[in-house]
Amino acid sequence: MTTLAFLSANLDLGYLLPAFREEFPDADLRTMAELGPLDAIDAAVCWCPPAGLMARMPNLALIQSVGAGIDHLTADAELPPVPVCRIVDTDMASGMAAYVTWAVIHGQRHMGRYLASAAAGRWEEAPIQPPRAHRVGIAGLGTLGLVCARALMALGYSVRGWSRSPREVPQGLDCFHGQTQQAEFLAGCDTLVCLLPLTDETTGILNRDLFAQLPRGAHLINVGRGAHLVEADLIPALDAGHLGAATLDAFVQEPLPPEHPFWRDPRILVTPHIATRTQPAVIARQTRMNLERIRAGRAAEVAVDLQRGY
Ligand code: NAP
Repeated sequence: MTTLAFLSANLDLGYLLPAFREEFPDADLRTMAELGPLDAIDAAVCWCPPAGLMARMPNLALIQSVGAGIDHLTADAELPPVPVCRIVDTDMASGMAAYVTWAVIHGQRHMGRYLASAAAGRWEEAPIQPPRAHRVGIAGLGTLGLVCARALMALGYSVRGWSRSPREVPQGLDCFHGQTQQAEFLAGCDTLVCLLPLTDETTGILNRDLFAQLPRGAHLINVGRGAHLVEADLIPALDAGHLGAATLDAFVQEPLPPEHPFWRDPRILVTPHIATRTQPAVIARQTRMNLERIRAGRAAEVAVDLQRGY
């Protein structure tokens, strides 16, 4: 009998159970409320699991993140030495591309102004610039970043990307990598999209020094993690004109508290970590495939490199 545990300190993962019952009809599915003996657990399905809990599961064979990121797992100093897998999913990628494309267009075509004009019944035009004249930079040219880049290029935007190492990219996509090419990358981003994983190297990367290297008035879109942004640096950068606007989907504290100043600043558009999602059936299927491969002595499909941190 396979036993799966659904572990989260801050999210009810019960919404996954129907899909997992389909995929694992004979398994014992345990939630945080009734974990039972920890030595029976074969796989942990996680979002921000309580630190140290998995270290007490001696027969654990797989740690499965329910998202694309694994920063919520590497935060556990006692993470046991078993494969850690993340979700890689075409629906998640196209959902992200839809959100990022919307956010770029919303900024570049002044949709915020039109919403205000429409609410006041005013017929007012804002400047219209062709997509080709607008440079969008994607920091993090991985699974999600590349799909966003393709979607924006298909609309005619001038797209550039930045990764840690050199990458094969579609023709027409300007590519930069590493610290040495970061400044050159940033200098050509009228809109900067953060799609980096959260690692030691990328925590706090969206800070005042970086904003100062962007073209004046740039639009920041953060769809990575809240801790990529030094929150205290954002409003001063908007006030100074280094940034013109920010669209933020992830925050250090979620839900963003009602008293947070980002809610009340008209230059900042807050969305509640909804840029994209993975369907429970996909998480269940990838968990089953990963567990089957591990039990067959093979490498899991999308195991992450814990040394690298993503
Ligand atoms: P991925 O495939 O692992 O790609 C990560 C990209 O970031 C790679 O291109 C990598 O470079 C680059 N990178 C990593 N560290 C870097 C550094 N120090 N400097 C420059 N580039 C660096 O990840 P993904 O699947 O695209 O997901 C990215 C992130 O999106 C996730 O980690 C998650 O936090 C976030 N996310 C957010 C939502 C949401 O709803 N807001 C949903 C899903 C995911 P290399 O190519 O050289 O390895």
